[in-house]
Amino acid sequence: MSSPRSRKALDDIPLYKPGKTAADENFKLSSNENPYGPLPGVMERAATQLGRINRYPDAGMTVLYDALAKKFALGPDHFAAGTGSVAVLFALLNAHCEAGDEIVYAWRSFEAYPIAADLTGATTVRVPLRADATHDLDAMADAITERTRVVLVCTPNNPTGPIVRHSDLVEFLAKVPAGIIVVVDEAYVEFVRDPEAADGLALLAEHENVVVLRTFSKAYGLAGLRVGYAIAQPSVAESIRKATAPFSVTDLAQAAAVASLDSEAELSARVESIVKERETMLTALRDQGWDVPEAQGNFVWLRLGDDAMEFAAACDPVSVRPFAGDGVRISVGDPAVNAEFVSLAAGWLVDHG
Ligand code: PMP
Repeated sequence: MSSPRSRKALDDIPLYKPGKTAADENFKLSSNENPYGPLPGVMERAATQLGRINRYPDAGMTVLYDALAKKFALGPDHFAAGTGSVAVLFALLNAHCEAGDEIVYAWRSFEAYPIAADLTGATTVRVPLRADATHDLDAMADAITERTRVVLVCTPNNPTGPIVRHSDLVEFLAKVPAGIIVVVDEAYVEFVRDPEAADGLALLAEHENVVVLRTFSKAYGLAGLRVGYAIAQPSVAESIRKATAPFSVTDLAQAAAVASLDSEAELSARVESIVKERETMLTALRDQGWDVPEAQGNFVWLRLGDDAMEFAAACDPVSVRPFAGDGVRISVGDPAVNAEFVSLAAGWLVDHG
């Protein structure tokens, strides 16, 4: 008897590999999580939803879209939310790509890109990062063909850390035909301090084909509740909403997201301390002799090549994120754990340097 057969496109798609857990959660520097708990007032507002979980959530996400509309001074029809920006990306690619199309993105970049892209049946075109771990936008523009439907630009780039410069992205967009969507994935935008960094929202105002992805998982510290969103022209936002399973973002998550938007001052203070910690780690690692690329997210990247897996194992009990044959990404976590990691990195150099 033959067993059910999934689509051929799935044959080469790996299961998404989450960052390794740690016995003590504070030691988990493998998933770019926020070490702080929910912002003030968030638990209370979310808890008001607990007593009514017999009801379906607001599928129209009206309160969330209204709050985002206010924050960005755009109409609510410019937004499409989902269970994390990763789900929004899956929906966007499903809505716009199919077999025969091409999706262009830099590599190495976010691990979910190949999965989301390949799942559509479209062909993936990976453009290698430059030696300094930045996007090679000239090569990405050259990779565009009449089959290209979507280009993914991750700034700051996960896992390597550098931003895409605004002027470079402006130049790039001038070369991209208007019918091709350019996704500017700004999952870590709140941590960016480089004044030359790309401003996706400014580009959105000038280019109908730009889609900005944002998330409540990183700076806002709501990774466990799963809320992310796209900001796009209304027609594109609508295509994403159509391709998203209804009722996916719970009222609990919507309430927590909206409450988080009301805590901007506390958010800024937390983000600032994470940025300070990032700079402390970066300086310490560079002083030890590591060649660390610019780090503009809540993580740093060590180029370890074939030593990546061994290095990650040597970091125990600190859990970091290795990419075999390439490098290791370390999230900025609790200061004491960051310091412990920095001394483990020094120890590695003594043994292997
Ligand atoms: N984009 C990038 C670049 C990311 O690193 C992540 C999370 N690792 C996401 C999107 C997705 O985040 P979420 O689904 O939690 O919103």
